[in-house]
Amino acid sequence: MGGKRMTQVTDHGGGVRSIKVPIPDNPLGHTLVYVVDTDAGPVLIDTGWDDPGSWDTLAEGLTACGTSVAGVHGVVITHHHPDHHGLSGKVREASGAWIAMHAADAAIVRRTRENRPERWFAYMAAKLEASGAPEEHIAPLRGTRTSARRPSTLPGFSPALPDREIVPGELLPLPGRRLRAVWTPGHTPGHVCLHLEETHPARLPGRGRLFSGDHLLPRITPHIGLYEDPDDATVTDPLGDYLDSLERIGRLEPAEVLPAHQHPFADAPARVRELLDHHEERLTGLLSLITTPLTPWQLAERMEWNRPWEQIPYGSRTIAVSEAEAHLRRLVKLGRAEAVPGSEPVTYVAV
Ligand SMILES: [Zn+2]
Ligand SMILES: [Zn+2]
Repeated sequence: MGGKRMTQVTDHGGGVRSIKVPIPDNPLGHTLVYVVDTDAGPVLIDTGWDDPGSWDTLAEGLTACGTSVAGVHGVVITHHHPDHHGLSGKVREASGAWIAMHAADAAIVRRTRENRPERWFAYMAAKLEASGAPEEHIAPLRGTRTSARRPSTLPGFSPALPDREIVPGELLPLPGRRLRAVWTPGHTPGHVCLHLEETHPARLPGRGRLFSGDHLLPRITPHIGLYEDPDDATVTDPLGDYLDSLERIGRLEPAEVLPAHQHPFADAPARVRELLDHHEERLTGLLSLITTPLTPWQLAERMEWNRPWEQIPYGSRTIAVSEAEAHLRRLVKLGRAEAVPGSEPVTYVAV
């Protein structure tokens, strides 16, 4: 029984292994949880989705690595999303391990724990209304009468509070290893990559290895939406942050990238260039859509997605409109688009 799951462990050499921890009902399939050996015991990079089957896979994977959940020394979290941080609390309970996270994502965790889901629904309803979403899309977020249609898959309403802060540029407390935090905001405001500043075990050319979380993946682009924060009205530019973070990672020139999904790969600078080109093309394409003013919702309906808009499910439409808005903010910041004065809901037009 466990034997099948043990094939989920890959040895990357140099005291680094990964465990493929499944994400139930998700096309991504799994999170790669990395196990880094240190003089004080194994340290995990991310933990995986909070689900009994995922927990069993993680536990059996650690056994296959010659250790156990109880033996874990620390947990380093790339970002707060539930496919990365979901099992952290259970790991800490079983082991006494510390959990480290960047302050910006730790703030989201704290807010999520303190706020009732109702406040979040009310906030999202107001946001969607301002984006020009139709009433039929907003209605499920309002009131109790329609609660049957409320999205039921909002996971992680009580994520684990971290014990330690990941400080950008600093080495993490991993005895016998050199693991440095690189702040890469964009996918989330506190996303970090972790640079293992050690010679590559197979001597691949480049500088060490990079645990890239969701920031740099081999075959997909991470979702870049808005940093939704009911307590902060600052107009942020997550796509701009993401593009800056990509360049930062390209300059590191790691010999190998160990991402949190899909598979490891070499030549990070080439992948970074691909993604920068992709986003530049997408921004240019969007400009041709807003030659007449559009709300973020109308823009999302007209943008290219992995399937026609009519087939995009409810939750993904909410994500799509936040992605459309992130692109509009970037274009406004670049001076290539502007909000039409007096429009309500606000529309944007190319300049
Ligand atoms: Zn993520
Ligand atoms: Zn992820």
